[in-house]
Parts: sequence; structure tokens; C-alpha cells
Amino acid sequence: MKKVSILWFKKNLRISDNSALYRASKEQKIAAIYINDPDIINNDDFSSYHLDFIKESLLELEIIFKKNKSSFNVYYDKALNVLKKINETYSISKIITHYETGNWVTYCRDKIITNYCKENGIELLEYQSNGIVRNLSDRDGWSHLWNKEMIKNQISTPGVSGFLDLNAQSVHESFQKIKIKKKKYNKMFFGGESHATNTLHSFLNDRGNYYSKEMSSPVTADKSCSRLSSYLAYGNISIKQVLQETKKRQAFLRENKIRTGWLKSLSSFSSRLRWHCHFIQKLEMQPNLEFTNMVRAYDGLRESYDPNAFTRWKEGSTGFPMIDACMRFLKSNGWINFRMRAMLVSFASYNLWIDWRVTSKYLSKYFIDYEPGIHYNQFQMQSGVTGMNAIRIYNPVKQQQDHDSGAKFVRKWVPELLNVPIEYIQYPHLLSEKMQKKVGCIIGKHYPTPIVDLKISTLKAKKYIYDIRATQKAKIESKKAYIKHGSRRKSRNINLFK
Ligand SMILES: Cc1cc2nc3c(=O)[nH]c(=O)nc-3n(C[C@H](O)[C@H](O)[C@H](O)COP(=O)(O)OP(=O)(O)OC[C@H]3O[C@@H](n4cnc5c(N)ncnc54)[C@H](O)[C@@H]3O)c2cc1C
Repeated sequence: MKKVSILWFKKNLRISDNSALYRASKEQKIAAIYINDPDIINNDDFSSYHLDFIKESLLELEIIFKKNKSSFNVYYDKALNVLKKINETYSISKIITHYETGNWVTYCRDKIITNYCKENGIELLEYQSNGIVRNLSDRDGWSHLWNKEMIKNQISTPGVSGFLDLNAQSVHESFQKIKIKKKKYNKMFFGGESHATNTLHSFLNDRGNYYSKEMSSPVTADKSCSRLSSYLAYGNISIKQVLQETKKRQAFLRENKIRTGWLKSLSSFSSRLRWHCHFIQKLEMQPNLEFTNMVRAYDGLRESYDPNAFTRWKEGSTGFPMIDACMRFLKSNGWINFRMRAMLVSFASYNLWIDWRVTSKYLSKYFIDYEPGIHYNQFQMQSGVTGMNAIRIYNPVKQQQDHDSGAKFVRKWVPELLNVPIEYIQYPHLLSEKMQKKVGCIIGKHYPTPIVDLKISTLKAKKYIYDIRATQKAKIESKKAYIKHGSRRKSRNINLFK
């Protein structure tokens, strides 16, 4: 039987700075594969938003392979079945891929594949993804390792000629077989390495000037934020590539004494690239953070919830204009900026008292950039169950005042409120009956009354959380969580354990 090595593309869908591809290009007989695994596609965190992005990314790769007279083999089956079938026909000698820090499904898949390789004498070569380090037991020294990785030269881009045809399917053929409910949305992002590079350049040279001032408002964020998260999540670009391009741009700005806000913005942006890996590292070291509170003293905190409240939150009909506008914007576009994500989750967790395990699965489907390591840890943090982070309860009325005082965003996404006078736009339920008729917005008919009393629900939430936080059990567990996962950079949170 012919021997073949396999380059397995997972969430590293690019040609440049790709260590697995570089290593694979040294093999004599090599084939490139991508697996559409039904276990991943049918999981409760996946949707057509992700599938579209993956397909676009793969189509770009396929074109590059074809241009170089190579084949790109796509399968639709469980990963183990695919590898078994290939092994039966060709006899696999090596599998070359990246480590993936994904959800529980990919964690289990990778364990199964590792065992299969061991049992069948297949060499498994897995390369590090970005700054995520495997087999660490705590965070001591992680920052140093991250810096070391980021200053390394980028991996040179090899030619992709000679990749074998395994008689699998093309991207189109494979995706046609997938049955998934199609959700309609505005295409704000197209997957693929070329789109990732263009997005990075437009941010660094044009859109990013006022990033630090404009990232928090949904009115300005879609222009001023990088919008790179989906490209990073699917590996259309690496963190190292983004960081090194940013450093170059910073050097240029300094040399040319251009100080119109650019340097401050790019410095904030660079810190977030570290956060990206910092959060994923937590899930890498503790995969059950997808469904377990980081601090178990908070278990049972939100045991049940009102399904009607959950429905109204999901539909964007809570009676809080900023919450409703953000939810509708997110679902239409597959993306929203950080502060508005945090506000949506804070409102669900504190004011509606819904467990983060329920809301995180719902929103993962709408975030094209869904990255389990960031996602679940942010949900835990915004729900007060990590023990080591400050409790931040976002007031949606204040957020609206601060970030959409002219009501441009709210009026666009909650058109029921189009004619509500600006003085009432944060509190439409306070309009007199006469005014409601005049502006064509009857509260309770065209737009709902607020779903909760903001003050009372906030006070209750604080009391429940702080009561647990004060217990000895929570203090001990929070300290352990900090030792395992806490950033070793100077932080006000360190005082927590004094
Ligand atoms: C509840 C909640 C869930 C989230 N889920 C995800 C997720 O699934 N995937 C995801 O990539 N981000 C997630 N984030 C973090 C953040 O909101 C997004 O990374 C950011 O809004 C993406 O837009 P951008 O690329 O324009 O970011 P920019 O502001 O331009 O930042 C650049 C990059 O830095 C990283 N980054 C930025 N903010 C954070 C942060 N707070 N934590 C970690 N990394 C960060 C991202 O990779 C981002 O692409 C979540 C935040 C919250 C509050």
C-alpha cells in the first residue's frame, strides 16, 4: 500500500505563517485535508454563520492549491472515520496539524485521534497555535513564553505544489451535503486569508486612528475596531502576524512623529492581542470551563430562570432600548463590540438572573468569531463566577446615554422608537398616553414595558454575589483559580487575597 502523510487543516485556515503547512511541505507524499465533522456542526454552539465563514476560508485555500496543481481534499464525516478510511486505502505515516483549544467536542475528538494514532503507529505532529502553550500547570512564566513566541520570525510560506488527490470532495461538493438551518444576516465578514490581510491593513492605516476613543460605542465600533476576531478565530491570520504588522506601523508613526491618537490606539489594540491568548490559555488548562464555574462556590447560584425573560432577551424585546438594539444588531451582523457584548451578558446574568451556561450557548451561534476560550471565560467573568475579577454590572440606561446619546443606533435597530422624543428615548415607558399616541408608539403594544426593575434587580444580584464572595470557601477557591489562571501582570485584583 502507498504511504501518505496528512496535513490536517483545523482552525488554521491560511497559507502564511503556518508551521504545520511548512512542515508538511517537506514530505515526499503528502495530502491536505479538511474535515466537516457532523459532531461539530450539530453541536449546540454552532450555526450557519460559522459554516459560511469556514466555507469562504476553504474556497480561498482550494484556489491556491489548484493554482499550484495540488489537491485540497474535503470530507463530511466524523474525524475518526475519515482518518480510518484514508488509512485503509493509503496507510498514513504521519498526521501534521495544530493544537486546537476548542470546545468539548474538539477536545474529545483530539483525544480519540491521539489514541488512534498511537494504536496504529501513526506519527502525530502537532504545532502550537498562536501564544497558547500546552501542558502548563499554572500561569508562572506564561507571559514570558508568549513574548518569546511573538518576537520569533514568521514561518516562511512554502510552495503548495504536489499535494495529492485522495479522491475526496471539493469544498462545494462537501458543503452541499451539510444539512443545517440557514440563518439570514448581513455579510459584514467574508472568510479567507486575503480578507483578513485587507481588514488588518485598513485598520492599521485608516480605520484605527480613534480606536481607543471609539471602540465602546456601537455607533463607531464597527468602523474603529479592527473586526479581526473572526479571522483570528479561524486562523485566517495569526496573532503574530497582526502583532508584528502593528509594531511596524507604530515604528513608522513614531519616526514620522504622527501623534493624532494613533499611538494610543495601537497600544490598546496590542494589549488585546495578548488578552486573546490569555483567555484561551485558561480553557487550554481547564477544558471544563465551558460548563463549570471557575469557582465552584458559585454553583447553584442561578439554578432556574424565567423562560419568558430569556425569550424576550433573545428577541430584543426587553423594553430597554439599548439591550434590544444591541441584540438585534448582533443577530443581523454576526458581530458586536466588546462593551455591548458585556452589557448584554451582564443584563441577562444579573438583572434577569439567567445562568451563563444558557446564554453563552445561545450567543455563540451568533458570534461569527466564536472562540470557546474567550467566549466562556468572558461569560463567566461578566456573570461574577470567576472569583478573581471585579464585579461589573452594566447599567443599560447609562450605556445608552454614554454611547448613543443621539439615539442614532437605537432608532435604527429599534424602529418602533423612531419618533420618540430624545428626552424619552432611554425611558419610552415614561411617555404620557397622549404622547404615545402622538408618536405612534403605544407602550405594551408597539414596544414593551421594561422587563425588570433595574435598581431592584441590580441590588439583589449584588447581594447574592457578594454574600458568596465573602465566604471562606469562595475565598479559598478564588485564590486557587488565581494561581492557575490569573494574569501575572500587575492588577488591582491581586489585592483580593490580602
Ligand atoms: C460575553 C463576551 C463574549 C465574547 N466572546 C468572544 C468570542 O467568542 N470570540 C472572540 O474573539 N472574542 C470574544 N469576546 C471578546 C471581544 O468582545 C471580541 O474579541 C471583540 O469584540 C472582537 O472585535 P474586534 O476584532 O474588532 O476586536 P478589537 O477590539 O479590534 O481587538 C482585537 C483583537 O483582540 C482580541 N480581543 C479584544 N477584546 C478581547 C477581550 N476582551 N478578551 C479577549 N480577547 C480580546 C480579539 O482577538 C480581537 O479580535 C467576547 C466578549 C464578551 C464580553
